[in-house]
Amino acid sequence: MATLILHGGAGRIDDARVDAYERGLRAALDEGWLLLDHGADALDAVVAAVATMEANPDAFNAGVGSSPTRDGTVECDACVMDGRDGRSGAVAVVTRARSPVALARRVMEHSPHVLIAGAGADALVSEPIDNAELLTPYARAQLERWRARRSPPTGSATVGAVALDHHGALAAATSTGGVLGQWPGRIGDAPIPGAGTYADVHVAISCTGKGEAFLRAVTAKALAERLAAGTALDAALARALADVAAMGGSGGLIVALADGGLAWAFDTERLALAWRAGAAATTREHVAVVTSPSVVSVSAASLP
Ligand code: ASP
Repeated sequence: MATLILHGGAGRIDDARVDAYERGLRAALDEGWLLLDHGADALDAVVAAVATMEANPDAFNAGVGSSPTRDGTVECDACVMDGRDGRSGAVAVVTRARSPVALARRVMEHSPHVLIAGAGADALVSEPIDNAELLTPYARAQLERWRARRSPPTGSATVGAVALDHHGALAAATSTGGVLGQWPGRIGDAPIPGAGTYADVHVAISCTGKGEAFLRAVTAKALAERLAAGTALDAALARALADVAAMGGSGGLIVALADGGLAWAFDTERLALAWRAGAAATTREHVAVVTSPSVVSVSAASLP
């Protein structure tokens, strides 16, 4: 039994880009699932799935195609967390990495630290690229529209993945370009373990939405604690969104459970979502940009 659930951001997604989002989600799902299917760890699967979305120039706000700051530079944040032992690695304000999530994993595995930001993070990139390579024509146009205040920003944000592997381990990964037009140096919830990304032996969580509100609500860890205290999954998810709303934000979350169950919840216009779950030969899956704000859980018992 394995589970892989991905998000490609909560928020507004242009109608014209919905197909590209769904194609991108499916490609990432296939990439991560292939690993899980071959017995790889949940950590490998979530990093592969997120890296696939980061590399996609046609959809998502992470890696290539990230939303730029108000100065026009791209600053990326990413985090990985291994539920087996609580190890975590993260980078913030990284400007020269093609795959911020791979860099976050590197911090976890090859440094004594959890979170490295700015020039220090860029110095760890093995093949640094020019920042302009991360800025797509679409993202540049979005910035121009934002600067001209002719329309509110569209294009959803952050990508994330959570997984349960065949060995029973959970992991989470999140990667983002942040918020369109953000101040240079601004860091949201995505690279902060316990806020936008969290995994332990019971649950793995990745969030998307207004990072300031998710940070203040310490969303992912608060959700994990409520579940550990026995709150029902749907009620705990609704409470997580309510807590974010109370802090002035909106967004979405994806959840994988140690028993094989999975869930998502969002209160924005749209959520780009994909999941596959089940045993090796038979799986259930769903790939869509979903449009009705909701709290949905899929129990392990209902999966093949
Ligand atoms: N949570 C991300 C951030 O605040 C953005 C998003 O997911 O929309 O950086």
